[in-house]
Amino acid sequence: PARGEVAYFGAGPAPLPTPVLESASRVLLNYNDSGIGITEISHRSPEANAVLAHTKESLRNLLDIPRSDGPDGYEILFLQGGGSGEFSAVVYHMVSLWIARQKQDLGEDVERLRQTMQAEMKLDYLVTGSWSLKASQEAARLVGAEHINVVTDARKHSDSNGKFGRIPEQDTWNSTKEEKRCALTYYCDNETVDGVEFQSTPDGHNLVADMSSNFLSRKVDVRKHAAIFGGAQKNIGTTGITIAIVSNRLLPPHASMASPVLLRKLGLPVGPVVLDWPTIAKNDSLYNTLPIFDVWIAGRVMQRLLDKHPASSSARIAGQEAESNKKAEMIYSALDQNPQVYQVVPDKSVRSRMNICFRVQGGDESAEKKFLDGAKSKGLLGLKGHRSVGGMRISNYNAVSVESVQKLVQYLREFADGSAK
Ligand code: PLP
Repeated sequence: PARGEVAYFGAGPAPLPTPVLESASRVLLNYNDSGIGITEISHRSPEANAVLAHTKESLRNLLDIPRSDGPDGYEILFLQGGGSGEFSAVVYHMVSLWIARQKQDLGEDVERLRQTMQAEMKLDYLVTGSWSLKASQEAARLVGAEHINVVTDARKHSDSNGKFGRIPEQDTWNSTKEEKRCALTYYCDNETVDGVEFQSTPDGHNLVADMSSNFLSRKVDVRKHAAIFGGAQKNIGTTGITIAIVSNRLLPPHASMASPVLLRKLGLPVGPVVLDWPTIAKNDSLYNTLPIFDVWIAGRVMQRLLDKHPASSSARIAGQEAESNKKAEMIYSALDQNPQVYQVVPDKSVRSRMNICFRVQGGDESAEKKFLDGAKSKGLLGLKGHRSVGGMRISNYNAVSVESVQKLVQYLREFADGSAK
């Protein structure tokens, strides 16, 4: 089928707005009448700088990211290595900061620092789905499992059947109480595989969030976070760049970092320089060759959101948030109206607006196949769940139009009525 004849609900890489792709094909051939394409221009050229500045500015406007150069401001970084690269970057950075703070208090004595680190340093992880689990495993790989404090593991809660699907109440969490001991509190705002989304920002010292799959779908209380990161390939753009929003309090000159020599003496890992936030910040994301085309795509996607939803709030994402909520409600209500046929997997209290996970006839293999085949015949694609959990998953990212959702909802109803052809 031709583009436009299908509605695609894949979980990532995700759909992009067709007009953005149409102009992308033009700039690949000839960028701004320069005679060369955008992937061929230098990442240090004035044109590339303008692309970078525009994308950053758009993101600031959409999420109302504080601009100050002082400690209250936030830096926007573009990196490579995907969301997974940031699982590691976060640990390298927050541990280095933690050590530097101890050094300020305890002085240069390496043995004393080592003992304090061994006794006190904790990295808090909220494990609410497959991606936060992976991030916590990466942290354990880098600094040792003894430093990882699993604040909550949603699978171990009594009514969760050993699966992800709800977020245990905060009064059951085992957070590290003293800020001084806690290098970071990590959570994944939207668990793409399991369809579990936080309904509000959790509490925690030095809060770090993975927003890979719900970036730019709702307002975010940036000021509550030490850092927020996400790969671009869902709501933002093409696979190839990762965005990190990092508090200036975590970066030089407002913060000092432990030196690589000290980290090595303490048996801690020294991260690769391309994941080093201070290096990337100091070089305005141009420490090494940045894929400017990906930054351009992200900028066009953001500009469309700004144009589509005129200022109604200091965070210009408010309009898109309303649209995302509306689309998700349409889908969940079609599922909920047919409980014999469709069973939503996660608990109602944590249902994701971005990744809607459900079973057909309780997970009956032939019914699920029939559902997928029927959907495909109507041009509704990308509905199969992640291989690790099975079932169905409807990804409702920003580029999925209301019309596509209407078509899907009609199919959900027809299939349930047994009238799907
Ligand atoms: N975090 C979340 C929430 C994701 O959905 C994904 C990928 O789907 C990742 C992290 C990993 O991202 P990447 O594949 O870019 O490393």
